[in-house]
Amino acid sequence: MRIVKTIDEVRKAVKEWKSTGLSVGLVPTMGYLHEGHQSLIANSVSQNDKTVVSIFLNPIQFAPNEDLESYPRDPERDAKLCEDTGADIVFRPEVSEMYHDDFCTYVDMDILTKNLCGKSRPTHFRGVCTVVLKLFNIVKPDRAYFGQKDAQQLAVIKRMVRDLNLDIEIVGCPIVRESDGLAKSSRNTYLNEKERQAALVLDRSLKNGIELIDAGERNSKNIIAAITEVIRSEPLAEIDYVSVVDAVSMQDVDVIENDVLVAIAVKIGRTRLIDNFSFSV
Ligand code: AMP
Repeated sequence: MRIVKTIDEVRKAVKEWKSTGLSVGLVPTMGYLHEGHQSLIANSVSQNDKTVVSIFLNPIQFAPNEDLESYPRDPERDAKLCEDTGADIVFRPEVSEMYHDDFCTYVDMDILTKNLCGKSRPTHFRGVCTVVLKLFNIVKPDRAYFGQKDAQQLAVIKRMVRDLNLDIEIVGCPIVRESDGLAKSSRNTYLNEKERQAALVLDRSLKNGIELIDAGERNSKNIIAAITEVIRSEPLAEIDYVSVVDAVSMQDVDVIENDVLVAIAVKIGRTRLIDNFSFSV
């Protein structure tokens, strides 16, 4: 496995692969990798001849008050995980390699990015779409892998690919959880022992929602109320949102008639965590 820091080097490697007809998978990440990222890499390795993992802490998807500076990093452990999982290249550019000082071109998406996380993070998805399109243009993958953990991001990327006619297959991968149910996240490292225990309320509340829907409940208000009640029972938890949205448009729905995403964002102490489940009609 090679660790590559420049756009030119990645392009050269991919060109050589493609000239011999090899397929290429891309796994975009921000590093501090765990088993969730690893499952994406493993999927790519099994479905493509070559796999590129990008590790880039993308400054433009963080607002000034967010955790860009404190975001955890461990480049050596990341490289080992990528190598052990079968990746061929880790692309780890500096910020200056990705963004010229006078960079001023962005991908801006309406509707899907305005709800859920977009409400409290209004510039986040502009940063995500822009960097992902750049990575697509740099690596030119046949397939790219994203986790259901960030379900809105997955829907947004799928929409960008459709709307901008990108010739890339987007593969969504299931949420990987800790044994006690907490969705794996690089940000879980921010949690102290008490908060780590309190964070279990996310998974517990969603299980409550799943039970209700399985029992036949289709009214979003009732599902939201039930999930909210469980979260409120945890003193360290502060709700950002509990929403039932259309699985494609990310718009709130009153009654479940089509496929939906039930998504939550909850602050545990100072750490904002997200989780979700999908329900297909
Ligand atoms: P990040 O490094 O947080 O930007 O995540 C990179 C990719 O890994 C995104 O597509 C995430 O959705 C995915 N991912 C992160 N955590 C998980 C998880 N627990 N299960 C599945 N995929 C995940």
